[in-house]
Amino acid sequence: MLNPVLAMVLSGLFLKLWLERPAYRHVLFFSTGYLSYAITFGLQAMDWPFGYPANGLLSNLFILYAYIAIIHGIMLRRGVPTPFLALGVLGAIAFAGQFWFAVIVPDMTGRIYAVNFCYGAMMLVAAATMHTFRNKTPIERVLFAVALTIGLYSFVRTIGISLVEGHIVDRAQYVGSLTWLVLNFSAAFFALLFALTLAYMVVLDAMQDLRAESMTDLLSGLLNRRGFEEHGRKALAHADGIGVPAALLICDIDHFKSVNDRFGHACGDQVITAFGRCLSDAAGGEHVTARIGGEEFAVVLAGANLKTGRLFAEAVRNACSTLKISGLPEDCAVTASFGVAEMQAGEDLTSLMRRADAALYEAKRRGRDRVRSAETHAGKTGTDGNPPLSSVRASG
Ligand code: GH3
Ligand code: MG
Ligand code: MG
Repeated sequence: MLNPVLAMVLSGLFLKLWLERPAYRHVLFFSTGYLSYAITFGLQAMDWPFGYPANGLLSNLFILYAYIAIIHGIMLRRGVPTPFLALGVLGAIAFAGQFWFAVIVPDMTGRIYAVNFCYGAMMLVAAATMHTFRNKTPIERVLFAVALTIGLYSFVRTIGISLVEGHIVDRAQYVGSLTWLVLNFSAAFFALLFALTLAYMVVLDAMQDLRAESMTDLLSGLLNRRGFEEHGRKALAHADGIGVPAALLICDIDHFKSVNDRFGHACGDQVITAFGRCLSDAAGGEHVTARIGGEEFAVVLAGANLKTGRLFAEAVRNACSTLKISGLPEDCAVTASFGVAEMQAGEDLTSLMRRADAALYEAKRRGRDRVRSAETHAGKTGTDGNPPLSSVRASG
């Protein structure tokens, strides 16, 4: 009863993991796969219902589902098509072989060969498909190795033990035989090894996703302040390391409080979302873009100097002033103020943010809806030269 109990525990573990993160649909396949595996070995251990050979044929259907469900789960997680055709053909051959050697030409050894070779081949098909995964993570490599080992072992074990033990004619001789013992113990061992690898993979996925979620702002979908600090620091260090400039832009929506007051908080939320999208569209994927406060955003522009940073800010300023937001009257444009600073030699994110923030404050003070450059460490004013632009206030 080792196998069914173990498989039930594993099925329960995957069910719990799936309940924790229902978005991981693949984990539900792992759970039902191990449940089916438990039923297979449970039916065989009790030889119920129907007795041999009907029981063998029935349990064969459960093990077929177990294999296909678990392999499908692995592919689903990666968004890779499951090789259903190959698995289905092998499953059909296993079933037909079992039927043939149980009913038509009774021969236990033939049955053992048919079943073990087909299920071994299914694992090899799974391993071959996993081999095509791009950018395999270490745990995916381990899973591939485990699947390959199980697949090859099915062939080696079946042939090896058959050579040692000789021909097995009927079930009475089979139960308690060396083949039977090794099969049961190795099935338990590999089921556990495979399940632990799968569970480890699921836990790693969940940890990675939770980490990403803890650094993401729900409203805008951009990085939040924590994410910005982590990714921003890395981006600056990278730029410094490869000897390219980097600029930081901080911007804040003008008179945002009056948007909330006049058009409601929901409309304010829409403005934040639309502004965030406008900023990230302009920045593209390669820059670190974040919502660092209520209506305050920041971008690390790796490779940009002060001049490029200013051009970027002007482009965003123009693009955002034409945003159309439902609930906001046509004549009420969204404007924002921008502070831009270029990283000085050896400067860290905190200092760069402080300087960009001071420039933003200056942009606000001078009338909003404009871009200001930060002063350098030495107090020298950057090449600003930004003429005051007409400010279109949301408050009208
Ligand atoms: P300024 O031009 O000087 O930046 O003025 P402001 O009104 O934009 O700035 P202020 O700091 O006075 O107000 C910011 C407001 O943003 C206050 C706060 O209630 C609102 N706010 C902060 N977070 C959110 C949010 O997630 N959604 C909405 N709708 N409003 C928010
Ligand atoms: Mg504001
Ligand atoms: Mg603000």
